[in-house]
Order: sequence, then structure tokens, then C-alpha cells
Amino acid sequence: MSTPVAVDPDRCPRCAGRFTCGAAGPAPCDCFTLTIDPGVLADLRERYFGCLCLACLRELSDAPSAGQTSGPV
Ligand SMILES: [Zn+2]
Repeated sequence: MSTPVAVDPDRCPRCAGRFTCGAAGPAPCDCFTLTIDPGVLADLRERYFGCLCLACLRELSDAPSAGQTSGPV
């Protein structure tokens, strides 16, 4: 008997943490409550396959634009 090694759709490809993606369930995905920059989303789509967990999405949505350097240099 072979163990099925299916890709877990509810696993975050960024931090490997578990989360619940609303796209795979009846409830709306929590990610809809976040406002993520379209540019960031496009970048994520190229980097990762599937959804990210809320923690990562929150982190990314809170992050300033990549084009801005407001920190001390
Ligand atoms: Zn994550």
C-alpha cells in the first residue's frame, strides 16, 4: 500500500504553517478581509503555488511598498 503524498492545499508555502483556505471550503476565505497590494499578490503568485496563511498575508499587507525606502540608510 502506498501512502498518498498529496500536496496539502491548506499548507502555507511561505512558512509551511497550516491554515484554512476559504477557497477550498464553504466559508469565504479570511484573506478577503485583508488588503494586499496587487503588485505583492502578483509577486506571490510567481513565487508560491497556492495560498498563503493569514499570518503571512497580514505580514505582507502591512509591509510598505517595495519601492519605498523609509528606513534609516
Ligand atoms: Zn504562512
